[in-house]
Amino acid sequence: MQRTPDPSAPPDPRAAAPCTAFDATPEAVRQLLAHTEELAHIGSAQIDLESGQAQLSAGLYKLLGVPAEPAGVSAEWFYERVPEGERDFVRSIVEGVCPGDPCEFQHRIVHADGSLRVVLQRSLAEADASGRRVRVVLILQDITAQRAAEQQASHLANYDEVTGLPNRTLLVSELEDALRQSRREDRPLGLLLMELDQLKLVTDTLGYAGGDSLLLTLAQRLGAAVRPGDLLAHLGSGEYAVLLRHESAPDADTAVRAAQHILHSLREPVLLGDHEVGLTCSVGLALYPQHAYSAETLLHCAQAARLQARGNGEARIGVYSSEMHATAARQLALAAALRRALERSEFQLHYQPQVDLVSGQMCGMEALLRWPDGAGGWNSPAEFIPVAEEAGLILALGEWVLRSACEQSVAWQRQGLRTPRVAVNLSVRQLQQPDFARRVQSILLETQMDPRQLGLEITESLLMDESAHVVRTLGELKAMGIEISLDDFGTGYSNLGYLRRLPIDVVKVDRSFVPDVTAAPEEVSMTRAVITMAHSLQKKVLAEGVETEGQLALLVANRCDQIQGYFFSRPLPPEALAELLREGRRLPEHLLARKRRERTLLLVDDEENIVSSLKRLLRRDGYNVVTANSGAQGLQRLAEHEVDVILSDQRMPGMTGVEFLRRAKELYPDTVRMSLSGYTELQSITDAINEGAIYKFLTKPWDDERLRGHIAEAFRYKEMVDENQRLDNEARVANQELVQVNELLKHLVNAQREARSHEQASQIVAREMLEQIPVPVIGVDLSGMVAYANEPAEHLLAGEVPLVGSPAAEVLPPGLQEAWRDEDPAATHLLELTGQRFQVMCREMGAPARSRGRLLVLASLPH
Ligand code: C2E
Ligand code: MG
Ligand code: MG
Repeated sequence: MQRTPDPSAPPDPRAAAPCTAFDATPEAVRQLLAHTEELAHIGSAQIDLESGQAQLSAGLYKLLGVPAEPAGVSAEWFYERVPEGERDFVRSIVEGVCPGDPCEFQHRIVHADGSLRVVLQRSLAEADASGRRVRVVLILQDITAQRAAEQQASHLANYDEVTGLPNRTLLVSELEDALRQSRREDRPLGLLLMELDQLKLVTDTLGYAGGDSLLLTLAQRLGAAVRPGDLLAHLGSGEYAVLLRHESAPDADTAVRAAQHILHSLREPVLLGDHEVGLTCSVGLALYPQHAYSAETLLHCAQAARLQARGNGEARIGVYSSEMHATAARQLALAAALRRALERSEFQLHYQPQVDLVSGQMCGMEALLRWPDGAGGWNSPAEFIPVAEEAGLILALGEWVLRSACEQSVAWQRQGLRTPRVAVNLSVRQLQQPDFARRVQSILLETQMDPRQLGLEITESLLMDESAHVVRTLGELKAMGIEISLDDFGTGYSNLGYLRRLPIDVVKVDRSFVPDVTAAPEEVSMTRAVITMAHSLQKKVLAEGVETEGQLALLVANRCDQIQGYFFSRPLPPEALAELLREGRRLPEHLLARKRRERTLLLVDDEENIVSSLKRLLRRDGYNVVTANSGAQGLQRLAEHEVDVILSDQRMPGMTGVEFLRRAKELYPDTVRMSLSGYTELQSITDAINEGAIYKFLTKPWDDERLRGHIAEAFRYKEMVDENQRLDNEARVANQELVQVNELLKHLVNAQREARSHEQASQIVAREMLEQIPVPVIGVDLSGMVAYANEPAEHLLAGEVPLVGSPAAEVLPPGLQEAWRDEDPAATHLLELTGQRFQVMCREMGAPARSRGRLLVLASLPH
């Protein structure tokens, strides 16, 4: 059905296009203009230059927010709608526009609601036949929204959304300007780049909101620390930059000081919800003109310096040097390869046995990450782990290691293999995760791994961060039954303080502290000191990197508990390790500590015939006799055999007997050392005896029987010392267990004490409140004694004796006694005392089933 148009309805502008004939009545044109203007946010005006009168279109009135003036307005009226500061400028353009040369410019107008609108004005002048300007036509378009969007886009393009700081684009443009100025004025400038270590960690654990609030806090702190003329920017992902103008960076030293000052602002941890996050940053510094001339190169140099600073660990401000580029490029490539490797599951774990030096059996194994290098070899973890940390991959990698090691251990156990505890290396960043203990627990649950089968190795650098979080997390892990080892002890700060404070079970002495027979005595003393110290703190000691029998013998002699190293086994792939478990591989008996073995005697003399005759004489007593012709050879024999007693000549070429025995004492303090000499170099021998290097001094020529007696006595002495040591060791182990039980008890007692003190505190508060309320309150216990009376009660019932501690039957007035004795404690009693009326309320004290007496409350009633 065709519709007939309604003649009274306004013309629809959308319908205008298909019209065949244009409706040209003035009204229709006016309406069309009105619609068009409205749709395009446009208004127009004609100013008659002669009369100074202006005709405004409906659109322009609308733009100005004022009702239309059918009679028109003055041109002045229009100019008054332009802000005062821009008025003369607008007027001069409008009045100056020439016929045939329209102009276009932007200015603002004041809307009737007081807001300012930005308009684009196009003006054109009309002239009469004589060429005189008679009229100006203005078209104004409201472009406020467009301008706001442009400004927002420009802000977005130049500022970081989270922190509101200039972003990389703006930094580069500012840096370019600053460099141009520096070149003109021949002045230096500096660029600092710093990256926050904790952002990834926080985002991973607390979500993006946590990460954002960390970034914001940091931006505020850095902003306060940066000098007013310098520019702070956030390049994204926790990477900040500071453009140090020449006042802050006249030279490298001053710039480093400026960097230190800025870093100082991060020393306080940030509190994110319940989590306290300690902040660390690596900082790189590059300078114009020393290092680079352009903005991009300066940024590059600062980045290379920052990467280098991160590698250095402690010194966290790196200043650019030319070798850095190569290192940075290598690390970048490695990081990309690591990311790919993680996606493609290229990593493997190998396992290296750890052996107990008393039983000789495997007591643990360490899971070590292996990454094939594609050419049949392996990339070194010591090289790629720090890069994985830098590239933010270590959390994913670490979790993979933990899960795989647990899965492998459970698989071996299911095959019926006696599987010792498997230890996994932790990176600092893993332990810093706020919920690390929970993550470990969920992996244990998921893999069905018994926590007592797991160990975790942490390094000393991790302990530098003695934040409450690290201490608490280690405590939680240990409480689950996981063994905690301190790896690479001796290479870092070796602070004994944290060994005492932190829940560490095993100290792994770094291989640089595992001396061989050729080592200087001081080194051996050092190893012994570490072992003794760790034992005195009830920690076990494992020596890493044991490669030779000599090292092993030294460690056994110094009572080290466990070893790990190529001597027993290299790290092995899982199948090879399973084979080792199946065959029950252990250390040979003769290498072990404190086993009943044959008595070994070492004879050292440069004269061959003396060695032979002594050997013949002493063999009869059943000793295992080992011989050497010099001090050096003697040391070699000591490394090869577990010697109990040494008998050494004094006068020998090279090393004298005293020197040799001193060395032997340093290396093998448990040996019994004797000197047999015809030359009585009294002073040196007396000194050696006094310092304990020589147990006995015997003279040549010897009496066979007496010599045999001395040697037998020396062996008895040695066995007595060994036995004492064994007992001491057993006592230490028992003590260690006792300490653990004690620790547990201490925790329990502390928890109970805490609960008690809470209870006491709340009791005190309750009592104070009872004292404060202006109502008499009396408590009577089950024995009928007044156990409690507050101040108003004592005041009201003041008698000869205080209420508390007296029998209620004696001190309470009869009406109150009635209430106290009432079968129905809820019954209400009325009472008059000293002219005042009270309502007595009686309540059972304590839990309903376990009444501890009754409480009487006297509420005063109006007269
Ligand atoms: P580490 O934890 O101290 O591991 C012991 C290192 O000593 C291993 O090197 C092992 O192969 C090597 N080693 C063992 N016995 C001997 C020996 O008798 N002589 C010599 N010269 N070396 C021996 P590797 O596998 O190259 O690992 C190096 C370091 O990389 C490890 O030192 C550890 O700090 C780190 N690492 C390895 N796997 C992981 C892992 O899964 N996570 C983390 N965060 N770090 C790991
Ligand atoms: Mg380790
Ligand atoms: Mg180690």
